[in-house]
Amino acid sequence: MTAPTDPASTPEGAKSSNFLRQIIDRDLEQGAYAQRRWAGHPADAAAHQAGVPDPARIRTRFPPEPNGYLHVGHAKSICLNFGLARDYGGVCHMRFDDTNPEKEDQEYVDGILDAVRWLGFSWDAHGTSHRYQASDYFAFMYRAAEYLIETGLAYVDEQTPEQMRAHRGDFGKPGIDSPYRTRTPQENLGRFRQMREGHLADGAAVLRAKIDMASPNINLRDPALYRIKHAEHHHTGNSWCIYPMYTFAHPIEDALENITHSICTLEFEDQRPFYDWLLDRLREGGLINAPQPRQYEFARLNLTYVVTSKRKLKQLVDERHVSGWDDPRMPTIVGLRRRGYTPESLQLFAERIGVTKANGWIDFSTLEIALRDDLDPRAARAMAVLDPVPLVIDNWDEVMGAGHLEPCVAPVHPHHPERGQREFRFGRELWIERSDYEAVPPKGYNRLFPGSKVRLKYGYVVECVGADTDAAGQVQTVHARLIPDTKSGTPGSDSVKAKGVITWVGASDGVRAQVRLYDRLFTVPQPDTGERDFLQEINPDSLKTVSAWVEPSLAQARANDHFQFERHGYFVADRIEHSAQSLVFNRTTGLKDTWAK
Ligand code: ATP
Ligand code: MG
Repeated sequence: MTAPTDPASTPEGAKSSNFLRQIIDRDLEQGAYAQRRWAGHPADAAAHQAGVPDPARIRTRFPPEPNGYLHVGHAKSICLNFGLARDYGGVCHMRFDDTNPEKEDQEYVDGILDAVRWLGFSWDAHGTSHRYQASDYFAFMYRAAEYLIETGLAYVDEQTPEQMRAHRGDFGKPGIDSPYRTRTPQENLGRFRQMREGHLADGAAVLRAKIDMASPNINLRDPALYRIKHAEHHHTGNSWCIYPMYTFAHPIEDALENITHSICTLEFEDQRPFYDWLLDRLREGGLINAPQPRQYEFARLNLTYVVTSKRKLKQLVDERHVSGWDDPRMPTIVGLRRRGYTPESLQLFAERIGVTKANGWIDFSTLEIALRDDLDPRAARAMAVLDPVPLVIDNWDEVMGAGHLEPCVAPVHPHHPERGQREFRFGRELWIERSDYEAVPPKGYNRLFPGSKVRLKYGYVVECVGADTDAAGQVQTVHARLIPDTKSGTPGSDSVKAKGVITWVGASDGVRAQVRLYDRLFTVPQPDTGERDFLQEINPDSLKTVSAWVEPSLAQARANDHFQFERHGYFVADRIEHSAQSLVFNRTTGLKDTWAK
């Protein structure tokens, strides 16, 4: 692991170039894909050749396995693949990589489609929905396997898994040829068909490519192409009891779909020689369209203070460390959404971190900065008191009249006067933050303490008198006196010098709200690296729910509305539990960076 990466700063508005864009620019300049033909759907060479000139200048794909909800790392890949297609007049295919017969959950498929759409992307282009599933290609994959067998490029190996492992060798040591390696194509074909027909038990044999057991790249030491698995597949049912290995399936999926740039994470770099070997052979055999896809690798996103592995995220959900995949503390796309992240903020984040060839860590603050940059110009402002204590204006009746409520206004957004004003009332009783009063002020404290003058934002300047406390010394009520003629926005209002400014909510028109104060889910920046058990690093204080008072404008908040609670940060009306009858806000992020030490 390398040190945290400094997010290369991108001039606002300008799309930063990166090595992938340079490759695509070069390919388009050279007309590498100009002659390609397209069948109108994924297909073999013959069908594509009989088709039309490909209307897409490039084709990329986003190929998740539908075994969980997508996370922030997938968001990077989505923005990259769909973004490149959009920017280059191409198409990005939404492909479910469902070659494993493990149970796929419709819930995950729906969740993935929803996440991609919410991020702002679509797989519809040229009047076609480019939503595909790899299991539709099983018949072609089988045909490709038979082709390799017939041409002497694949064989059925019946060594035990232990023997195979032992004979693979390692980095310094070449592998040993399997005794089955010299079988004739006829023998192999017969045996492979027996595999397909279910005559062999799980693990009894595998189909392997015949490449080079002494290759310095272990991935070329006769990699497995097909394995036996007597398991029902959610789409193909019991049609198959042999299933293709990922390394065999993926290049073929790309080729059938006419993908030009197959972008994956760096772990697959060592697989590229096999990717090319396989597609070269299938193209030579006239099975797949030309020119064939190329694989390019980029560094996966590693983000501090979160885990980005579907398996670990599933564990957090299954073991109830969080309330679900959409718990606002989860780095899943549904979780971030419920936390108050916007599609634009995630796109901005992806743009800023860019794509590189070097693995590194991105500091969580980079994500939050993108979020604030997106929310600041658009979130409506509001006042909220999260830890309320009453403030009584002792001379209110005397100077303003008993029962008087003074209307006050504040802009919905300080830089957008056209968005209008919020209205609320100042009266004898108000709510203020408990931390805005100190009987004995620490040095530099500029809020309420006996004798201090403080402005209640958009209201008046008051002079603090003191506070009532209970037997335990806990403040019950703070007292102050109004200084007349100091109302914000009136002439001469600043004639009295206030030490500080605090926010407040009127007792007469304040509204109750549940506010959920979320904090980082893990206490350490890299919870799942090295020897660490990420479950041991869970922050026990990652959620604090408080009963707050909020200004009356928030009674109109609709689910998903974003706000900046002045002095506190950004909040969103919870998309599930918020309603006009019961206000629920989630803290999206604070106003300032608190992550960096
Ligand atoms: P996980 O381990 O969380 O299941 P995965 O890579 O196995 O992740 P897939 O569903 O196979 O998940 O991934 C779909 C696509 O998302 C792949 O192309 C993969 O490269 C990309 N992807 C997954 N995680 C990241 C990440 N952290 N950063 C960038 N891209 C990612
Ligand atoms: Mg996976």
